[in-house]
Amino acid sequence: MALDYLSLLNPSQGAAVMQTDGPCMIIAGAGSGKTRVLTYRIAHLLEQGVDPFNILALTFTNKAAKEMRARVEKVVGPAARSLWMGTFHSVFAKILRSEADKIGFPRSFTIYDTQDSKTLMGQIVKELELDDKLYKPSVVLGRISAAKNKLISHNQYLSDPAIKADDEAALRPKIGVIYQQYQQRCFKAGAMDFDDLLFNTNVLFRDHADVLNKYQNMFRFVMVDEYQDTNYSQYLITRKLAAKERNICVVGDDAQSIYAFRGADISNILNFEKDYPELQVFKLEQNYRSTKNIVWAANSVIKNNQAQLRKDVFSENEDGTLIEVIKAASDNEEGKLVANSIFEDKMNGHLSYDNFAILYRTNAQSRAMEESLRKLNIKYKIVGGLSFYQRKEIKDLVAYLRLTVNQNDEQAIRRVINYPKRGIGDTTISKLIMTAEEANHTLWEVVSNADQFMAARVSNPVVGFAEKIKSYIVVAGKEDAFEAAKFIAKNSGMLEELYADKSIEGLSRYENIQELLNGIKEYVDDPEREDKSLGAFLQDIALVTDSDLKDAAQEGEAVTLMTIHSAKGLEFRNVYIVGMEENLFPSQMMITSRADLEEERRLFYVAITRAEKKLTLSYATSRYQWGNLRSCEKSRFLDEIDPQYLNVKFSAGPGAGEGSPFQHVFERRSNLIPTAPRKVQATKYVAPTDFAPSDTSKLQTGQRVEHAKFGFGVVNALENQQGTTKATILFEEVGEKVLLLSFAKLRVH
Ligand code: ATP
Ligand code: MG
Repeated sequence: MALDYLSLLNPSQGAAVMQTDGPCMIIAGAGSGKTRVLTYRIAHLLEQGVDPFNILALTFTNKAAKEMRARVEKVVGPAARSLWMGTFHSVFAKILRSEADKIGFPRSFTIYDTQDSKTLMGQIVKELELDDKLYKPSVVLGRISAAKNKLISHNQYLSDPAIKADDEAALRPKIGVIYQQYQQRCFKAGAMDFDDLLFNTNVLFRDHADVLNKYQNMFRFVMVDEYQDTNYSQYLITRKLAAKERNICVVGDDAQSIYAFRGADISNILNFEKDYPELQVFKLEQNYRSTKNIVWAANSVIKNNQAQLRKDVFSENEDGTLIEVIKAASDNEEGKLVANSIFEDKMNGHLSYDNFAILYRTNAQSRAMEESLRKLNIKYKIVGGLSFYQRKEIKDLVAYLRLTVNQNDEQAIRRVINYPKRGIGDTTISKLIMTAEEANHTLWEVVSNADQFMAARVSNPVVGFAEKIKSYIVVAGKEDAFEAAKFIAKNSGMLEELYADKSIEGLSRYENIQELLNGIKEYVDDPEREDKSLGAFLQDIALVTDSDLKDAAQEGEAVTLMTIHSAKGLEFRNVYIVGMEENLFPSQMMITSRADLEEERRLFYVAITRAEKKLTLSYATSRYQWGNLRSCEKSRFLDEIDPQYLNVKFSAGPGAGEGSPFQHVFERRSNLIPTAPRKVQATKYVAPTDFAPSDTSKLQTGQRVEHAKFGFGVVNALENQQGTTKATILFEEVGEKVLLLSFAKLRVH
């Protein structure tokens, strides 16, 4: 079936779709059909007979990839399923799954999410005895992340005098050392954080020409959406992949570049022109998404930025309604007015709640909105914030699942070794960790051999824990992800523990676990899913970005709440941008330099251009901050919109500043904050005092040995695995034991 693309596209869009040979770039305004061009381009390639496995399309969120795939599928049918389509992170995680061993990682490597990274970072800062206020995990990780995105390794970081001077000036001279420790620990744990996925892909392609060559031949056509927000690491990956065929097409909008703080580099657009002198550039100027009023308002805002490529965006849609401005006396009232407005518009316009989105600058702003929506019984879904997978009980069960798939996952061991409580005290855990460090073993090796160097009283629960995990490995080897997870939830004691807690919070935790199991069930029941293993499921959820959680969070029609950052590329019929106040938007942290303020203004531009038919901007004249009621000034961005497009509809009404009607919600929430685990009285490890161990480096089978705890025995077998020697010894009293020689403390007779 030949498709008449041209009737669905304007001439420039059509030309960009048809031009599949050689490099091409579209840098164009919001809503001008860039993503649509990519979608039809893929459909066109498939229709031309290109194998879907030869097409790589990189999107900014998993959701965007899903939507693009669905749209392509509509046009070309099931072939769309074999496309390589996803975020940089998901695509290259998949590639690393089959190539990681070449760079020294297990193929079953764990992906650390932000929380895992923070926990590990906190531990390192503590172990190095540094001030954790100065070396806040988020600050240090931010700095390390920036380095990784510029492909600066920890060794380069440590030896670069400019970086050193920078860190010293910021009074944080130890970041290099922390970076090194962090990478070593991740490596040892067989783990990568999100930045490592891209960093290591670069290492893989740099050091293994054969591998690069393989993927160059595979990805004959490379496409990147939201190109303005790629960082150097991502830029280099695409450049390398496209070096052979040079069939690369990137689309983006410099006016929507909003991730500079995360290393996105606008010079990637300029580099692109240098890298491909034969480049074809296409111009798209017509906005198909929004009414004229919205497009004009967006243009009037962005023209205040100096740093931008000039382009004129126009709309041939109707003028539409004016942009409404809501002025409220307090944040609670702002929430109320917004919720009322949504309710009215839905009723009057016979709309669905799916047509509405509330966008804010920071996650914390969702509170007032949530409360007001609840009060009017309006369903909503939150994107970001405390998402499902961030909840404690979910992280606990996921840690068990991760450990089942990768026993080197140190963070997972620490999380659940004594949860539910099984009598393993903090001191024992510290001892296990120290022993692993000293003997250069993984924590798992030490845990599963704890009986060899700890009194039985202390080691029994530790070994019991290891035995449980070993049984899970067996189950996961035989069963699908759902059966394995169900078994683990029950057998670990987690379900029972949560069921026993009859408080509202306990109940909701129990329901959350059930919901996770439901999700896994859905995952394995998907007929298109080939790999239904626990490992495959875990990889899937590790890559679920906050933006994608809304799909899982709630079913049925609902208003979407999210930060502007996660709204990129999306469109909604009616959009509310709330908190239009100085110090909130623009954010207080972004007003000291022109560059920062311009990034903030681009963010506002992104927000405005999400709206199709109706845009509402709201602000409060007072708001609680750190427990104090502060008066607020309306955002300078509001004044930048030409007033002819505005309709200031509401003014402050009664009820300003009144107490929250949802006080009980806070009370319940504060109960939800997990309390610190109760300290279990540690049992002291009794080391034999009069026992001098021998050098066992030349130990041979058949030799008679003496062990401080197990007494006399004979070495039956010696096995060397990756530098670790395990000895099988038949003891006279306790029978056969397999010991790790490096800490077995044997005396050779
Ligand atoms: P953003 O910069 O926000 O990512 P974009 O440039 O990627 O926007 P799209 O999302 O591709 O824009 O398109 C915006 C809307 O306009 C979509 O609903 C799309 O289907 C529609 N659209 C784009 N081009 C056309 C066209 N030629 N005819 C009809 N509708 C179009
Ligand atoms: Mg787009």
